[in-house]
Amino acid sequence: MDFELSEELVAVRDLARDFAEKEIAPSAAKDDREHAFRRDLVSKMGELGFYGAVIPESYGGNGLGFLALALITEEIARAHSAMRVFMNMQVGPALVLDRFGSEEQKKKWLPRLIRGEDVGCFAITEPDAGSDVAAIRTTAARDGDSYVLNGSKIWISNAPVADTALIYAATDRSQKHRGISAFYANLNQPGVGRKSLDTLGVHCSPIGELSFENFRIPAESLIGKEGEGFKICMWQLNQTRLSCAAGALGLARAAKEAAVSYANQREQFGQKIGQFQMIQDLIAQMVVHEEAAKLLVYRAAWLADQRQPNNLEVSIAKYTAAEAAAFAADAALRILGAYGYSTEFPVERYLRDAKSYQIVEGSSNIQKLIIAQDATAKVTPAKYVMSLAAELRPISTPTSKMTRGVTV
Ligand SMILES: Cc1cc2nc3c(=O)[nH]c(=O)nc-3n(C[C@H](O)[C@H](O)[C@H](O)COP(=O)(O)OP(=O)(O)OC[C@H]3O[C@@H](n4cnc5c(N)ncnc54)[C@H](O)[C@@H]3O)c2cc1C
Repeated sequence: MDFELSEELVAVRDLARDFAEKEIAPSAAKDDREHAFRRDLVSKMGELGFYGAVIPESYGGNGLGFLALALITEEIARAHSAMRVFMNMQVGPALVLDRFGSEEQKKKWLPRLIRGEDVGCFAITEPDAGSDVAAIRTTAARDGDSYVLNGSKIWISNAPVADTALIYAATDRSQKHRGISAFYANLNQPGVGRKSLDTLGVHCSPIGELSFENFRIPAESLIGKEGEGFKICMWQLNQTRLSCAAGALGLARAAKEAAVSYANQREQFGQKIGQFQMIQDLIAQMVVHEEAAKLLVYRAAWLADQRQPNNLEVSIAKYTAAEAAAFAADAALRILGAYGYSTEFPVERYLRDAKSYQIVEGSSNIQKLIIAQDATAKVTPAKYVMSLAAELRPISTPTSKMTRGVTV
């Protein structure tokens, strides 16, 4: 067992940290206040090769691997959690295209996503289908050499700004989850409606509704075969969930750092508040949760790099990291007192952003359900998802070329 990062991974992490501290952190408070969509930063992350860590070089990636992706995402989230959402919106669809797309689809969409030229998104959730993905009602009806989509998606990150989307829709509703299919489409077309929505946090990650009214897309937009969408979606969520866990880890670290720094300076009753045992209790818990989350996130990423099943490990990591982020942000706010509650310090933003991790990519309840069923059932959700994905396409031998650094 080796807990050391390789020299290459340290270099990737340091590059991401340097970028996040210099380019993202200085304007984070202002960007959050103004709900700014930082297209320039989305592009820069593409130029640096951040979106290409788990994509082969032949499609514009650098094949550095999932641990590299986790380290990059963690550093970005530490500087500004909302900005890490873009990692998932580019990398999530790219991974699905790379794993399940045709050669033509890969060539058409992947390089543009990886370079940040197209802003991506993935559209699963609907007004009546949140945790229960199989309940989606958006339909895709075959009509000659097209599919015609009707329905609406909600809470879609990047919906107001995305150029392209991975869309899950029912090609045969009578088949329930076996009738769901996956599509990749250009959103800048007639038949697509967009509506921005406001949320508690992640203000720099535009979010909203996508509505489809006779939205006609070419038949070659279908990814895989009709009816494979649910399996693809479950596979995708395992990947985007891991990146999300890495983001939560970064935010937990940021909150702890802010709390420790303040506790070492602020004096009350003639001593630093960091000397009070009740403050130390909060700090100790923050440290423990963060360290546990770090090991779990890195293990889940490492398993992915070894091409080993990691569904259970991803759920454990995501649950732990999401709860660590929420705990740390809440604890930091308590430690900073009124200053924590003010907008002068970043911890109120940390708390608003942290809450999202307990909801997205499968809520904390859904992660606990997966973990508990894995422990108690014969056919566990984690094993079920792995078998579904393997049915679609067997796991290939490692293709990562751990030789080339992310481009600068
Ligand atoms: C900031 C943000 C960004 C998002 N981005 C995207 C995106 O890019 N693309 C996308 O498709 N979606 C996105 N979503 C939607 C997100 O995936 C859903 O919100 C999430 O899946 C939960 O669905 P829901 O909100 O409808 O809650 P529900 O599923 O209605 O759940 C409500 C509550 O019930 C609990 N619950 C539900 N089922 C069970 C169960 N079986 N056992 C125990 N408890 C249960 C949940 O844990 C939760 O506490 C985003 C959401 C947010 C907040």
